[in-house]
Amino acid sequence: MVRVYLHEVTKIFGKSVVALDKVELEVKSGEFMVVMGPSGHGKTTLLRIVAGLEEPTDGEIWIGDILVASPGKGIFIPPKDRNVGMVFQNWALYPHMKVFDNIAFPLRLKRLPRNEIEKKVREIAEILGIAETLDRYPRQLSGGQQQRVAIARALVKEPQVLLMDEPFSNLDARIRVTARAFVKDIQRKLGITTILVTHDPADALTLADRIAVLRRGVVQQIGLPSEVYDKPANIFVASFIGDINLFEGSIIGKGNETYFDGGDVKMQLPPNIGIPSNESAILGIRPEDIVLSKEIISNNDLIYVGKGIVEISEFAGGKFNVMVKLQSTEIRVVSSTSFRLGEMVHVYFNAQRIKVFDKQTEKLIY
Ligand code: ATP
Repeated sequence: MVRVYLHEVTKIFGKSVVALDKVELEVKSGEFMVVMGPSGHGKTTLLRIVAGLEEPTDGEIWIGDILVASPGKGIFIPPKDRNVGMVFQNWALYPHMKVFDNIAFPLRLKRLPRNEIEKKVREIAEILGIAETLDRYPRQLSGGQQQRVAIARALVKEPQVLLMDEPFSNLDARIRVTARAFVKDIQRKLGITTILVTHDPADALTLADRIAVLRRGVVQQIGLPSEVYDKPANIFVASFIGDINLFEGSIIGKGNETYFDGGDVKMQLPPNIGIPSNESAILGIRPEDIVLSKEIISNNDLIYVGKGIVEISEFAGGKFNVMVKLQSTEIRVVSSTSFRLGEMVHVYFNAQRIKVFDKQTEKLIY
C-alpha cells in the first residue's frame, strides 16, 4: 500500500484554462479519498495527472516514495510504469472482446505467461462476483456487471492505487446504492489506496474516508465526511454537500446578548459566539436541523425563531419535506411529522447546528 501525494499541482490547458490551481492533497496509504466538485472543475484532470495520462504544468506528484511527475525537475514517469489502475467514466470496455479478454488485456500488455493470466483473471472475477460472465461480451451484461468488469480490469494487475472517475454515473438510481456498497466493500477488503471523483454528494458521504472538495481547480476543504457536512469551510462547500437554508443579516450585541438580525429571521445566538458586533453575516441551517411545533417548546438546545405558516408538506419516504413561510422568508425543513397546509407553527433552530459565514469571504466563522 502506498500514499499518493500531490504537491502544489497546477494544470493549465492552452494559455489560460486553469484546470487545477496549486492543489495540495495527500491520500494516505489504504485510504478511500473522494474528490468532489461540480462538472468542469478539474476532477478528471486530477485523476489523469495521477495516472500519468496528463502532465502537470507545475508541482509534484508522488506515488509512495517515487516522484512520478515534476516539470521543475524534468521528471515524468509514463502511465504503464506507475502501477495505477483506472476505471473510466464510460468504463471503456472493448465491445468486440469477451469479458475474459477485457480483464486479461493489461496482463497481456505486460506479456505475462498464459497460465498466470488465466489464474489472475479467474481470481479477480471471483472476488468481484462476475466469474460466470467471463465468456460473454460486454453488451450481454447488465450495467452493474459491466462496471464490475471495468473494476476487475483495473485491479487485475494488482495496482498500488485505484482511480475511479464517476463510476456510478451510468447506473440507474437503484443499482447505484448496491454498486456503492460493493465498491466500498472491495476497497476495504483489498485495502487499496483509492481516489474516486464524483459530483454526487451521496457518493462522497457514503464512500469516503475523507472528502476533498474542488471549486474551479482549487481545493476548498479536505476532511472527514462529517466534518465537511457539519463544519463546511465556506458557503460553496456547505451548499454543495447538502441542502442548507441561508439568511443574510448582521450580528448585533455581544457576550450573552448576541443576536442575528436577518429581517424576518431574527434570533438570539449562543453566548460568546465570538463574532464582532455589526458584522455582516450569513446564517446557515440545514433543513433537518430545524424543528417545527404547534406548541411552544422549552429546550435550551433550541433557538426560537418565530411563527410561520406551512406552505408545502410532502411525504418523502419516512420523512416530510416542509416549506414554512416566516413573513416573506421561505424556510425548507425536513420533519419527521407532517403538517397541514396553512397551519401555524413555531420555528426553532438547533443551536448546536447553526452555522455563521462571513458575508464578504463566505468563510465559516462559527
Ligand atoms: P466533469 O465532471 O464534467 O468531467 P471535471 O470536474 O472532471 O468535469 P475536468 O474534465 O477536469 O473537469 O476539466 C477541468 C477544466 O479543464 C474544464 O474547464 C475543461 O474544459 C478543461 N479541460 C479539460 N481537459 C482539457 C483539454 N484536454 N484541453 C483543454 N481544456 C481542457
